[in-house]
Amino acid sequence: AAGDEITADMIDGLARKHFPMCMRHLHESLRRDKHLKHHGRLQYGLFLKVLGLSIDEAIVFWRRSFSTMQDDKFNKEYKYNIRHSYGLEGKRANYPARSCQQILTSDTPGSQDSHGCPFRHFSSENLQTGLLSMYSSQGLGASDLLEVMSYVKNGHYHVACTRVFEITHSSQGVKKGDGVGNGESVTHPNQYASRSRELEKS
Ligand code: SF4
Repeated sequence: AAGDEITADMIDGLARKHFPMCMRHLHESLRRDKHLKHHGRLQYGLFLKVLGLSIDEAIVFWRRSFSTMQDDKFNKEYKYNIRHSYGLEGKRANYPARSCQQILTSDTPGSQDSHGCPFRHFSSENLQTGLLSMYSSQGLGASDLLEVMSYVKNGHYHVACTRVFEITHSSQGVKKGDGVGNGESVTHPNQYASRSRELEKS
């Protein structure tokens, strides 16, 4: 289900506090490169749609984010695809956001891509550096890496992501084994983000 409405202006703040690593990485890549490739735009755009970004706010967000692009190019090459992902063009389908399972198993990213699941698709070194740079302000420390990486090495990517959620929400009372609620592990990036936002409100 769609969440409360969010605006383009809110996304930097939401990303820092509530996004799972796949979406944090897409957000930071977009800020750094002022662009995202096709699969990245799709993975991130559908996630933001389900998070509650309206079509009008989505166009504002992407237009501003591609800050070095001319209006003409944006309107011709990108606007249609954004409207399409909201079901406003083409066959007008209501595209759902991708689940972890889909992100983990389809469209394997190449070296120039930013989509995918960092727990599966990053090198061990980049994953550890990324975890510390993104989540140390929320309480994830170097001493947590060994545990997180042990799940990754065994191919338990959801468990690694769930553990990061638990650690980064421990100041809100989340304990090991609580998962994203009722002991559930992470199965969808939107589930991660909406549970994180609920904890903040509660
Ligand atoms: Fe994203 Fe799912 Fe991977 Fe977590 S496990 S980083 S939510 S794809």
